[in-house]
Amino acid sequence: MSDNCIFCQILAEKAPCYPVHETRYTRTFLDIFPAAPGHCLIVTKEHYTDIFDATPEAIAMVGHVSTLIAHAVRDELQCDGVGVFQLNGAAAGQTVFHYHMHVIPRNTGEELVIHSRQPGNASELEAMAARLSKRAHAMRIDD
Ligand code: AMP
Ligand code: ZN
Repeated sequence: MSDNCIFCQILAEKAPCYPVHETRYTRTFLDIFPAAPGHCLIVTKEHYTDIFDATPEAIAMVGHVSTLIAHAVRDELQCDGVGVFQLNGAAAGQTVFHYHMHVIPRNTGEELVIHSRQPGNASELEAMAARLSKRAHAMRIDD
């Protein structure tokens, strides 16, 4: 737990999120500045700054869950592709210094965007989280 970390605050339920999925080691919720509708973040429950700080086990778990969330996103949204990636260090564009993976639905012809500066619409985010959560749980992603 890091006091000034927004993801730690979400994990501690001191800040809100649009939840999609949870395992013993990870939480998945929607990015509130979605690069595309359905943009998910898979976050370790422990606070690790980045790939250089996280344990191999945590990185493996995030990779495992990210793969399954990618399936859930593609199945539910019928997108053409899915971007799965993460950033380490400000120089790489990291803006929240708590290790996490982005899962972003992609469609042919759309510009490749990582960070949107536009906040998502609250009721759309809520509806999207409900759809993806239902799909992810139906897939029985285990921990
Ligand atoms: P990164 O730049 O890889 O560190 O990604 C951090 C992501 O977290 C960005 O895409 C932000 O839009 C997103 N983000 C920041 N604050 C929140 C929040 N309170 N809830 C959900 N996503 C957030
Ligand atoms: Zn944190």
